[in-house]
Amino acid sequence: YKAELKKLVNAESKSTDGHKVLLVANIGSPKDLEAVKANGAEGVGLFRTEFLYMENDDLPTEEQQFEVYKEVLENVDGPVVVRTLDIGGDKKLPSLPLPEEMNPFLGVRAIRLCLQRPDIFRVQLRALLRASVYGDLHIMFPMIATLDEFRQAKAILLEEKEKLINEGVKVSDHIEVGIMVEIPASAVLADQFAKEVDFFSIGTNDLIQYTFAADRMSSTINYLYQPFNPAILRLVRGVIEASHKEGKWTGMCGEMAGEAKAAPILLGLGLDEFSMSATSVLAQRKRINSLSYEESKALANKCADTCRTMDDVVKIIKDETGIE
Ligand code: PEP
Ligand code: MG
Repeated sequence: YKAELKKLVNAESKSTDGHKVLLVANIGSPKDLEAVKANGAEGVGLFRTEFLYMENDDLPTEEQQFEVYKEVLENVDGPVVVRTLDIGGDKKLPSLPLPEEMNPFLGVRAIRLCLQRPDIFRVQLRALLRASVYGDLHIMFPMIATLDEFRQAKAILLEEKEKLINEGVKVSDHIEVGIMVEIPASAVLADQFAKEVDFFSIGTNDLIQYTFAADRMSSTINYLYQPFNPAILRLVRGVIEASHKEGKWTGMCGEMAGEAKAAPILLGLGLDEFSMSATSVLAQRKRINSLSYEESKALANKCADTCRTMDDVVKIIKDETGIE
């Protein structure tokens, strides 16, 4: 089986009826780049930049960050989606004490922190902008709940870009700027967001947590982690359709994107880019390359439109595709 998968390292990710998608990898540091290549990922769909901030006692400098982003961009053929700092929730920083909150996952996290601390945010954005000439950089803001947050973040990005250009520094003109859709509010309002962002990436780990109001770290209520609940399928479908109406694209970088059962569903819902741990890429490519897009579309819509529970969805997927 492993040898068979290895043959797919340089293959496209394409349904039997010719519908192409992108299978890319989630990474946490440049150390993961080897696995990206070895497993035939077509790019990076999520670079979690937190490690840069978590491994040292001090905040990383612009120069330190620039070197890391440059290294990643130089070593990936294909798009690289870098997510700006997503700290808070369960992730704490030695160099940046956060307020004690009753519900840290509902508190100062990710873009909320960055907008409160633009001094820290600007350093990361400058490093990214400087590195942009070394590859196909996409910048992604996490935990966006409102369009105002996106506009504020993008305005800061554009300010730093202009400053750099005035300093004579080269910055790419082709950087796409998108958001993670991981809060129900942005999923519901995706049609409006789609007019202003360049792309969406659905973060199902958080989107499921916030949709079911169930802490993703809790083991006592983990039955509420329900990626195949029709409620999630409808949210995901709405986001993808909204992006396509505006000529934009949608990826997914939560765990769901690499799950076996998700292959026919997400293919059928029209997902453009699947981002997962590099070691899942080849198996997911094998599944997608054996599925029909038209049949998957019918299957996914049937699940989203007629199923009442996650078990209903799981059963239909198994009956129609054999995948479980
Ligand atoms: C997600 O929420 O699905 C996601 C990819 O981000 P993280 O797991 O880093 O919160
Ligand atoms: Mg998340």
